[in-house]
Amino acid sequence: MALKFHFFPAVFPDETLHSVLSRYARLCGGSSRKAAFAGETAATSFTQNVAFPSRLGDLVESLPSGTDLSVAQIIKRHTVLPYFAPFLTNDQLQHAKSSMTGNGNGLMLKLGINASRVEGASRIRFCSECLHEDIDRVGAAYWHRVHQLPGVLVCPHHMKLLKVVDPGSSSRISRKLNLPDDEEIQTRSTQIDACSDTLQRLHQIALRSLQLLDLELNPLSAPAVRMWLLHGAANLDLATGAARLDLGRLAAHMAIFFKALPAAWEYSVLREAPAGFPATWVTKLLRKPRGTHHPLKYIVLSTALEVDLACIPRGVEPSPPAGKRATLIDVHSSQPGPREIVPKGWEGLPAAVCRLAFTGQEARLIAGTLGVSLAYVYRTIRAVHGGPSAWRDARFLRERRQRRTAFENDYRHLHAHQCRDYAWLYRCDRIWLTDRIANCGSVHASRADSAGAFAVLDSQLAEKVRKCAQRLRGVGERPVWVTRTRIGRELHVLSRFQKQLAKLPLCARALEEVCEPAEQFHLRRLLWAKAKLEGEQRRVTRSALYRTACIRSGV
Ligand SMILES: [Zn+2]
Repeated sequence: MALKFHFFPAVFPDETLHSVLSRYARLCGGSSRKAAFAGETAATSFTQNVAFPSRLGDLVESLPSGTDLSVAQIIKRHTVLPYFAPFLTNDQLQHAKSSMTGNGNGLMLKLGINASRVEGASRIRFCSECLHEDIDRVGAAYWHRVHQLPGVLVCPHHMKLLKVVDPGSSSRISRKLNLPDDEEIQTRSTQIDACSDTLQRLHQIALRSLQLLDLELNPLSAPAVRMWLLHGAANLDLATGAARLDLGRLAAHMAIFFKALPAAWEYSVLREAPAGFPATWVTKLLRKPRGTHHPLKYIVLSTALEVDLACIPRGVEPSPPAGKRATLIDVHSSQPGPREIVPKGWEGLPAAVCRLAFTGQEARLIAGTLGVSLAYVYRTIRAVHGGPSAWRDARFLRERRQRRTAFENDYRHLHAHQCRDYAWLYRCDRIWLTDRIANCGSVHASRADSAGAFAVLDSQLAEKVRKCAQRLRGVGERPVWVTRTRIGRELHVLSRFQKQLAKLPLCARALEEVCEPAEQFHLRRLLWAKAKLEGEQRRVTRSALYRTACIRSGV
């Protein structure tokens, strides 16, 4: 009998495919696959609690019409393939996608997962806090992708150790349609036990793993990843020159790094190393990244070497194959971070365009600075091998730098969530934000509420309020209503105005002086509308006046 879903539950953020199908079975009245999926043989392949479910093509065809889920979306949002993707080749990624759409044959072998001891040490896990929160928030407990990732022993959201399904029964349980709050899971799971000293590092690794799921990166260039890791090693004095590793120092550095991680689970595999030498996988990643290595190895090594994987430019080959198009050279190879890259042999205007582009400038600014057309800017960047993606990355890095600075400036006086760009940083730069708050939280807390800091802030803010009001009155041609809300939004201090104005007397007085009552604003608008109508030689009637002024008549 062909399977046809009569309905399909809404999928939750970061939910695994196995989880949503288990919820479907529960809503159908039980956890029997046969009953819920009409005996469909393909269901065995797509419902299992495994990293790479298959027969997704069959699944999508059985979904009720109007379900907004394609195979590509399922793979991207509800499986862990995006976590693996940056470290695969394009061919491997395409093969993985078509294999998951089809019968899944040979996939684990092709990705090197079968041979990976890291994957073998990993289990089915969940967070008890997430479980309760999910029930409160969305009405059901569900399996989160991030908790299933190898090396993730604490919840990135709650910084709490996860619970793990008893390894002895996990292969049997993975075939069942269970949810974390099922009695069988609850009785067969135990709390992971790890020393509290390891929590912080485990949390860092969990956040970095979550970040990989969120970023949905395409395969990274293996030489670029290696180059960035080597830069990290060089910055920590673990390598000399371009690629000469100091194996003794590297071994000692990694040994210290692993001291802050548990000696169990995946980390028992990763920490194994011959005396006085770094683990083989460490030197392999730094010397010969060809072939597939488990993402957890990249995450652990990049964390140890203080390299942010999210910063590695996408699509820029450090030594790309010679082709028709210009190739890039790295002119500041001693420093990781935003680099100035110009095509080999390029001079004059095209080189100047590249220089500005690869420091993250916008097209309009480049065109304006150099006096060329926008089309010329785009054409020049496109002519560079990997140019458009390097430009995009450089703009991202620039934007991130600016947002980090804005946040830092505010963070001196405000609580983190009140600072400018907090939401953006939380979304796109969470590791940095969390580190920043963790490092400065205590200093900040003691300083934030002190009377001295408020006094300084008060006078600075009062000045800003006056300048802002002045600017608003001069802005554009149509008068803008100068209100406390408007100024608060412009200066990103609205919540401060709402909550702390009593502690900021100068600021409150400035606001009183500059904000205008509705009548005064309406008068300004109407006078402007009258001048505008007269200027356009139109009839000045009452209705034309109010319409032009965008004010309801009679107010
Ligand atoms: Zn949690």
